[in-house]
Amino acid sequence: MDSRVFYKSALELEKLLDSGKLTSVELAKILIERTKSVENQLNAFISFDEEKTINEAMQSDGRRKAGKKLSNLDGIPVGIKDLIAEQGQPLTCGSKILQGYVSPYDATVIKRMRNVGCVLWGRLNMDEFAMGSSNENSYYGKVSNPWDVSRVPGGSSGGSAAAVASGETILALGSDTGGSIRQPASFCGIVGLKPSYGSVSRYGVVAFASSLDQVGPMGRSVGDVAALFHIISGHDGRDSSSYPIDKTNHTLESIANKTAKVIGIPSEYFGEGLDSGIRQAIENAIKFYEKAGHRIQKVSLATTEYTMAVYYVVAAAEASSNLARFDGIRYGYRSENVRDAIDIYYKTRGEGFGSEVKRRIMLGTYVLSNENFESHYLRAQKVRTLIRNDFMRVFEKVDMLITPVTPSTAFKIGEKSANPLQMYLSDIYTISANLAGLCALSLPCGLSHNGLPIGLHLIGKPFHEHEILSLGYEFEHAHDFKDMHPVI
Ligand code: GLN
Repeated sequence: MDSRVFYKSALELEKLLDSGKLTSVELAKILIERTKSVENQLNAFISFDEEKTINEAMQSDGRRKAGKKLSNLDGIPVGIKDLIAEQGQPLTCGSKILQGYVSPYDATVIKRMRNVGCVLWGRLNMDEFAMGSSNENSYYGKVSNPWDVSRVPGGSSGGSAAAVASGETILALGSDTGGSIRQPASFCGIVGLKPSYGSVSRYGVVAFASSLDQVGPMGRSVGDVAALFHIISGHDGRDSSSYPIDKTNHTLESIANKTAKVIGIPSEYFGEGLDSGIRQAIENAIKFYEKAGHRIQKVSLATTEYTMAVYYVVAAAEASSNLARFDGIRYGYRSENVRDAIDIYYKTRGEGFGSEVKRRIMLGTYVLSNENFESHYLRAQKVRTLIRNDFMRVFEKVDMLITPVTPSTAFKIGEKSANPLQMYLSDIYTISANLAGLCALSLPCGLSHNGLPIGLHLIGKPFHEHEILSLGYEFEHAHDFKDMHPVI
């Protein structure tokens, strides 16, 4: 067996499992070993349960032997961002306040993966409560980028991205509120999909900003990401914001089916502040699509300049309300030297939350206060509607958009941690898809002059994941970026 089995795609591994050349238990053991050998450099996992993982793999092998394979991902290990509830497993959200908390039930996405035989492999590191763009905000330690361990993997799903990129897992789930799947996918040279708002159930997913959060798949190929998306998406009666639409097919055959599209290039996404190497890589990708027979059209999204401000009002407001439940009574950590109930709240929250989370709670409480509600929160909601309208107007003329994912490649650990505004700008190109409820894909499209991955961003209409996956696959298939791996 090839010594780098951990770099194979899920769909390649499926064939090996079907042929009997590899068992799911062997695969799980290979990943466990790989993880143990690189974790001291990466810190991508918060916890993992070897025995449980091998046991699930064993059950998958049994099904295959009996000719009862449940799906194309039966027996394939998937790492889970540590904000998605898996029964019996720790659920920390990267926070001290949830230290020791064990989830009593499965999130809908977990249940769906179990139902098709996925092996639920370890709990992946993340910025505390998914707030961050560098994975430096985890109580359980920073995560490093496998391409250069002195650099950040991006965030908040930095553990998921680093684990996939380094071959610690085959697939992973992340979550994206303002870019947290796409930005780390781009920094680590992998593929990440932020589904349209309402495509994937949020039941059992710890909320950061409920009107923006979406769970999505991360993997090393577009086909793998499509396969996992197919499993986790679809209506769920337990999430009132889950959208009741018929499931489209996301098999490799269906996304490999080409049709000519009209692709919009929004000028506002190519202005000042964009790294020249990234600009070049995106322009090359646009030329590729043009040559392949798609029509390229320049468009304008005039509301782009307001996205950052709107996001930090809306996301902070929702976070301050969602995080009120962490009171030291119901979940996880409780401060010890307390006088009375009020003191429990103060001390537990004071000791349990990190500084970025506190910053967001304060900002959110401020914009929701009586004096500021109308001038800040309500106004932000109105501008959010204008941003969405802007996209919908453009989508009358084009099928999808191409933009960069990030203004720079992976930055150095510590480079931006003292300057929150600089850090927030990392998501300047990704945030609008969340505000407008759109789907968006990040996939590798090159390496910078210093050997760091660059991501290509395809933004699609709500519930048109199939189209961006298909266009992403076309690019991936014609290049060999998916076979580039970090040396670690
Ligand atoms: N970096 C953004 C933030 O800190 C987005 C995070 C996310 O998508 N979860 O809020």
